[in-house]
Amino acid sequence: MLQVRGLSVVFDGFRAIDGIDLSVEQGELRFLIGPNGAGKTTLVDVITGLTRPTTGEVLFDGRDLVGLREHRIVRLGVGRTFQTSVVFEELTVLENLDLAASFRSPLRSLVRRRRGISAAVAEALETTGLQSLADRPAGVLSHGQRQWLEIGMLITQNPRLLLLDEPVAGMSKDERERTGELLTSVARDHTVIVIEHDMEFLRRYASQVTVLHEGKVLIEGSVDQVRADPRVQEVYLGR
Ligand code: ADP
Repeated sequence: MLQVRGLSVVFDGFRAIDGIDLSVEQGELRFLIGPNGAGKTTLVDVITGLTRPTTGEVLFDGRDLVGLREHRIVRLGVGRTFQTSVVFEELTVLENLDLAASFRSPLRSLVRRRRGISAAVAEALETTGLQSLADRPAGVLSHGQRQWLEIGMLITQNPRLLLLDEPVAGMSKDERERTGELLTSVARDHTVIVIEHDMEFLRRYASQVTVLHEGKVLIEGSVDQVRADPRVQEVYLGR
């Protein structure tokens, strides 16, 4: 589904991404890890059209995304979460989901709103387990619930590829577990790429991991393969 080829991003002479090749299959739940400054965010920024690469291609279903505007890439079916929240606190959970769904097809959404809750919103509520909070203002949600709402907001747009930036950062153990289950469930219908540092979380939920270091792919493989690799222990675990 996604093929990154020969990707480089140079900022003022500094190679943030230095010749990355990466393939992600449809239906994968892929984790991206690596120390600070490894290039993870820059890679996601390139895939979503926020940063233009210096060289290389980003093929999504065979189509090169490089040079397309962000909103075009969203329309082609690529969605992402940011580290900063995009939730409207004074709107209810349901209204936030509805608003997110309307970004995809504003006109259809207007018609649907007259008829009640849309299928996409109902699905997002169910997938995220937020049904009982549907009518509460988003401002009262816990940190974890807010993260799930953001993932739900993405799902309403039915992206084929979701990119999530540290979804369990700052979460309690229970919330992490629920997030792991949520990601596993989302990955049944979508392809998901997750930037995540939490090794315990990776051990439980990741099948395929890509380790970035200094703008390059250091190693790719199962969590166990990656953890056992001496280079990873040296650069990432600091051993
Ligand atoms: P990660 O997400 O793995 O922590 P980033 O992709 O954020 O790493 O950053 C990779 C490197 O590129 C870092 O050294 C960072 O300082 C640098 N960098 C990122 N964005 C910019 C920018 N807009 N201008 C200059 N340098 C940048």
